[in-house]
Amino acid sequence: MGTGTYFDISAFVVLLCLAYTFFLQRLDKVEDNNIIFAALLSELLSASLSLAFIFNPQIYGELKVPFYVSSWILTAVSIALTILFLFINRTYNIGIWKPVILVGVPFGLDIIFIICACFGLHNTFRDAAYFCDLVMFTVGICVLLIYKKTSSTERTILVFLTLVASLAATAVEMMYPEVEIQSFVIAMLLAEMFFSLKDPEDQFDAETGLLGPETFKEEIRRRYYYLDRHEAEVSMVLLIIPGSASFMKLLGEVNEMKLRQSVMSELKRISDGTELYKINQGVYVFLAEKGKKEEAIKVQRSIISRFEMTFGTEAYEMELPFCTSLIEIPKMAPDSTVLMDLIHMAMKEGILFGRKEIDATSLDLSSEEYMRQVDEKVRHAVESGNLEVYYQPIYSFKEKRFVSAEALLRLHDGETFIPPDLFITVAENNGSIVEIDDYVVQQVCKMISGRNLKDLGIRYIELNLSVSDMLQDDIAGKMKRMVEMYHVNPSQINLEITETSDDTFTGTVEANVYKLSKLGFNFSLDDFGTGYSSLSRIIMMPFDIIKLDKTIVQSPFMLEDEQDRENARTLLESSADMIHQIGAETVAEGVETKEQLDAMERLGVNFIQGFYFARPMPESDFINAVKVMNKK
Ligand code: C2E
Ligand code: MG
Ligand code: MG
Repeated sequence: MGTGTYFDISAFVVLLCLAYTFFLQRLDKVEDNNIIFAALLSELLSASLSLAFIFNPQIYGELKVPFYVSSWILTAVSIALTILFLFINRTYNIGIWKPVILVGVPFGLDIIFIICACFGLHNTFRDAAYFCDLVMFTVGICVLLIYKKTSSTERTILVFLTLVASLAATAVEMMYPEVEIQSFVIAMLLAEMFFSLKDPEDQFDAETGLLGPETFKEEIRRRYYYLDRHEAEVSMVLLIIPGSASFMKLLGEVNEMKLRQSVMSELKRISDGTELYKINQGVYVFLAEKGKKEEAIKVQRSIISRFEMTFGTEAYEMELPFCTSLIEIPKMAPDSTVLMDLIHMAMKEGILFGRKEIDATSLDLSSEEYMRQVDEKVRHAVESGNLEVYYQPIYSFKEKRFVSAEALLRLHDGETFIPPDLFITVAENNGSIVEIDDYVVQQVCKMISGRNLKDLGIRYIELNLSVSDMLQDDIAGKMKRMVEMYHVNPSQINLEITETSDDTFTGTVEANVYKLSKLGFNFSLDDFGTGYSSLSRIIMMPFDIIKLDKTIVQSPFMLEDEQDRENARTLLESSADMIHQIGAETVAEGVETKEQLDAMERLGVNFIQGFYFARPMPESDFINAVKVMNKK
């Protein structure tokens, strides 16, 4: 096989890689994965050629030249693609001419030198080719350093390491040609990069094929970075189609699909010249490519005039509710966090009021800002030491004293507290609830083991577990280890859980309830009467106590309308009745007045938890309150 054949093969592979990368995708929409995959493919081929030669020098001895040449060319292609990845990648949108010059020139020279080296195998040409590789890597590193702020830290570190290691490997091979490590190092690092890249599906919305929310966030970060350096402006239009998912469903599957398609094709038509993102269900952003306000205004006008007309086909037509808002950055949002708040607020307003146009400058961002602060505090709640477990005593009608207490968590915020309903919901959403509840379990165990609760007349402490806690595979093991560590008997702990959806008590949660009750823990069903309590399932579960929620307890006394009060009374009575019939005990939460207390006694409720007797309080106050009450 002559030299020419190898050239043919390598040229074919090169063309294949290029075709795969460039022609299958439009150049401006090339996905990271495709470029890096092509680079990896090319480098792997190069490495395998080197490998074949290293292990079979005698067989391939006479083919040394074509082997080297193919291997080099493949490496050069791979390097060029890697650098190109840096440029064309959405994150570094810096146009096409800079990459053509910065990568194209050394790449072209590289290939020329390789071919010259092939004919003469002259060391100078070979070194010149290596030198071009070095230039390309250095260009890549510079690009990365200059634009590092526009990309995520993890990606910057990964690409940086890849480039520096490849640079080093090339330099070593240049000095010691017999140490053939360049291809291997590059291939290995490219593989790592390829596997660490985000799934392209993350970049696009699966349903519409539009750019997705993650891509939007990245683009915004990049735009702000440019704003800082060039004092330019960026304008965008937010379009909200409130409730689109639910009302479209009413049309039936076929019509729904047709309507969606017609809306989507109209949005794409209107977006002409702007980037169109879908950042949430029914929420779209048109980002003016050059950031010009006139462009955005034009888009906003087109949206309004189009949405004032109907959508659909001859068979049916309908008007869609919609709302738009023009947002200018940095004028209306000095940084990306404020921008995201602004978008959230506009979304809420748009969904609630469905106005055609919202003036973004009139939106009050203080609640968004507050929520972000709460989120931040909740994430660091355990390590910050701002958590404190309060105890609210629970009274027994039969024994006429406090017999248990509920542990209720408090999150200090300076002089005040963040309301538990709020921070617990935030913790459930951001995932910190498990760590927070572990903390509560530990504090409660410590409290129980440090005191002789029985002498005080307190039989057990109730503590709240969220559904996320109950979804952990090892919750039973964890609770067991905890009580053993503090020498607490599981019967001294009663676990409260709330049914939050139709399928709360199925699968893992149900299995964990049984495992824990086998270990000796008792269970309460919390917040009975708040909407999700499904009788058929509750009857099947091992609940010792059912806690009537404060709304169901207080409504018969609080509602304004006489008939409503009557209905609420019926609901309360039948709930209490039902609980007795299934053999569970009842706690009435939220008892605040003597009238409410007496009514609960008449209903046969067993325990009372409410401000009438005591509010939740710090541990030492709780102990004192119990001592006083239980001595009487
Ligand atoms: P919950 O488990 O239903 O707790 C009872 C709530 O009713 C407590 O609210 C208590 O302060 C309040 N309450 C008791 N008696 C009265 C009364 O007479 N009048 C009124 N108006 N309210 C009364 P809190 O402490 O604000 O806690 C709210 C919710 O936060 C709890 O509802 C529970 O679902 C959750 N929570 C609290 N601590 C924890 C915890 O450590 N872990 C988890 N996962 N959730 C917790
Ligand atoms: Mg509770
Ligand atoms: Mg409750």
